[in-house]
Amino acid sequence: MDVDLVVVGAGLFGLTVAERMAVQRGRRVLLVDRRPVIGGNCFSEVDAATGIEVHRYGTHVFHTSNEGVWAYVNRFTRFTAYRHRVRTVHRGEVFPMPVNLATINQFFRTALRPDDARALIRAQAGASDPAAARDLETRAIALLGRPLYEAFVRDYTAKQWRTDPRLLPASVLSRLPLRFDYEDCYFEDRYQGVPVDGYTAWAERMVDDPRIEVRLGTDFLDPTQPVSRAAVAGRVPVVYTGPLDAYFDHAEGELSWRTLDLEFEVHPVGDFQGTSVMNYADADTAFTRIHEFRHLHPERSYPRDRTVIAREFSRRATRADEPYYPVSSTADRAALLRYRAAARAEPGVTFGGRLGSYQYLDMHMAIASALTLADRL
Ligand code: UDP
Repeated sequence: MDVDLVVVGAGLFGLTVAERMAVQRGRRVLLVDRRPVIGGNCFSEVDAATGIEVHRYGTHVFHTSNEGVWAYVNRFTRFTAYRHRVRTVHRGEVFPMPVNLATINQFFRTALRPDDARALIRAQAGASDPAAARDLETRAIALLGRPLYEAFVRDYTAKQWRTDPRLLPASVLSRLPLRFDYEDCYFEDRYQGVPVDGYTAWAERMVDDPRIEVRLGTDFLDPTQPVSRAAVAGRVPVVYTGPLDAYFDHAEGELSWRTLDLEFEVHPVGDFQGTSVMNYADADTAFTRIHEFRHLHPERSYPRDRTVIAREFSRRATRADEPYYPVSSTADRAALLRYRAAARAEPGVTFGGRLGSYQYLDMHMAIASALTLADRL
């Protein structure tokens, strides 16, 4: 094969490695993906029935405080001024999420000022240090107290992960700040937005270089394909970003993953829910959230009589499903250590990205990690 590097997976990690190795280092790169499209789970496209750009794998909002990552992504796309604001439905009422002073005051039917709210939550949370908590439930209670945990986190998390919150890593919750003011932006990063012309246009510009060849519909783990593990590994250097356990044919045991089922619908209204993401906190609603994509682009002129939504259902992935998130429960740790050892021993193959490293990486983290890898390859 006449290339210097094979990159498996055209998500943001694979795209970044391919782009840097080709453009900065002059290597000839072959980028393959099993799917017929690039962009991995950020893939977006314009819905034919409405003209509204939809995120097929769920809402993606870019955010980072990393100057290097921000400068890098701006080579390929500009970002809108969109700020993500999420609400959550609990027992028939809508609350701001993450929990802020408005959530606290609405939930407890009070009009507390910041210091009084802090004292109230401290009294409910008890004395234990949230930073010392190892599991999600312990950290959430140490942070929010039991009433807010039970209302907004316990059932949502159980629906999302299909795992007892006591067996989930506390780090999952570091994504959710607790605020004693009325700030309601979901993310706190310095730079935020949505790519002005969508994720797919961004991804396409990343591979727009004669030294990068993209082959889609190519499953690297299928030995009948010309570009497969069997044909390539050990001959040409490989960066593999697919599921870590699948690479080794699950030989070291099961790693648990979760997948999403997104049920798309077009509704004959100009606005279905008034915001881009509405969470459903309670156990009696089977879906975890509803995405309404028109709200991601308030700067565009979209039709006033149609809107696209997607209900998101979350479940454990089987081997036939697309894995989206590593579950990383306590039970996964032993197998993960065996896979990491196998990965280190695999000649000529480097593992990375959310699936290849079995880490819950956000977009900016995947890019940062790919930039680091490209520097040392
Ligand atoms: N979370 C929660 N209630 C919510 C939103 C989030 O308990 O209304 C917790 C939950 O444990 C979840 C984590 O925060 O797994 C991260 O949620 P987020 O929606 O940020 O995840 P992503 O958008 O990456 O799927």
